[in-house]
Amino acid sequence: MSTTKPFIPMVDLRTQYHHLKNEMQTAINDVLENTAFIFGPNVHAFEDEVQDYLNVKHAISCASGTDALHLALLALGIKEGDEVIAPAFTFAATAEAICYVGAKPVFVDIDIASFNMDIQCVKNAITAKTRAIIAVHLFGNPVNISDIRTASNGREIHIIEDCAQSFGGAMHNKKTGILADIACFSFFPSKNLGCYGDGGLVSTQHDDLADKVKLYRNHGSPQRYEHTVVGYNSRLDEIQAAILRIKLQHIDEYNNKRRAVAARYNERLQGVVEQVPSETKDGTHIFHQYTLLTSQRELIQKELTDNNIASAIYYPKGLHLQDAFADITPIASLPVTEKVSMTCMSLPIYPELALEQVDFICDVIQSACK
Ligand SMILES: *Cc1c(COP(=O)(O)O)cnc(C)c1O
Repeated sequence: MSTTKPFIPMVDLRTQYHHLKNEMQTAINDVLENTAFIFGPNVHAFEDEVQDYLNVKHAISCASGTDALHLALLALGIKEGDEVIAPAFTFAATAEAICYVGAKPVFVDIDIASFNMDIQCVKNAITAKTRAIIAVHLFGNPVNISDIRTASNGREIHIIEDCAQSFGGAMHNKKTGILADIACFSFFPSKNLGCYGDGGLVSTQHDDLADKVKLYRNHGSPQRYEHTVVGYNSRLDEIQAAILRIKLQHIDEYNNKRRAVAARYNERLQGVVEQVPSETKDGTHIFHQYTLLTSQRELIQKELTDNNIASAIYYPKGLHLQDAFADITPIASLPVTEKVSMTCMSLPIYPELALEQVDFICDVIQSACK
């Protein structure tokens, strides 16, 4: 066992909070003094600021990323009998939302280099019942949505972006969140833009979809005590909006630091492990996770643990093999997803991670792989 070095976590929210502490405490206190807790000024200002940041017509905040996906599917009118194509290699919420509206998730395999949906598999999965495709920008690596449009050529199929892991990522210099018909963000604390609780947001260029999302997020109520549809209570808290407004000012700096960490990992680990992450052509990857492939996963994880360094497996099992969805969608074999879930490993990455720490992590991995 080596000398005890300070623990390196997967993500360090405390250090970031300490940098922003005074600003955060003032903003939170102002909300408490102001007492406009629901749809207060920070919620409206945050939505405006996200519209500017993404260069999108509508940004509609809500209670979580899962709700954002649910609201988007409701707005598109997806319902029982419909099929929605989604990658098997993603967080469960992507598929849960499809089930909430009574539709059937159709899981497709991924491309090994990007970990995003394989376009040929999307093409093959389209049936007469396909109403939508959810493209997940996994780990912050943007999907080229035009490829998905081409795959669904000539068909009335809606494309939804799951941007839960890609706030600030871009494709052809356009931010994720404006590339398809509608997009969904999460502000879960560990996401690239995270609040201090739960939060989410839907973005779209379409006025009709925006109106529907607003309706469903607030009790189906276009005006007080008028209820035109059965809606939900899914609003972003005023306190969370105040926190997010502060962090939004730093998001590019945070994402650039993540990119620098990833570049250093790549430089050091290329050739040491089977695959290091790469950037999709014309895309800006913002490295929500730094995920590599190795056949020596157990060995490396043990060495890292012994050196007080965290690591994680995102994701150990594809959604196509999860019991939760087995009754709705038959269990299939998706070889790339299965191979990746057996060999993937994610390393610590966050804006405050120093390059010397990255070097230390790489030293440990290199000596484990000898
Ligand atoms: C985090 C996440 C979600 C869900 O977001 P919550 O805010 O936790 O509800 C959905 N999809 C993906 C890909 C995610 O990573």
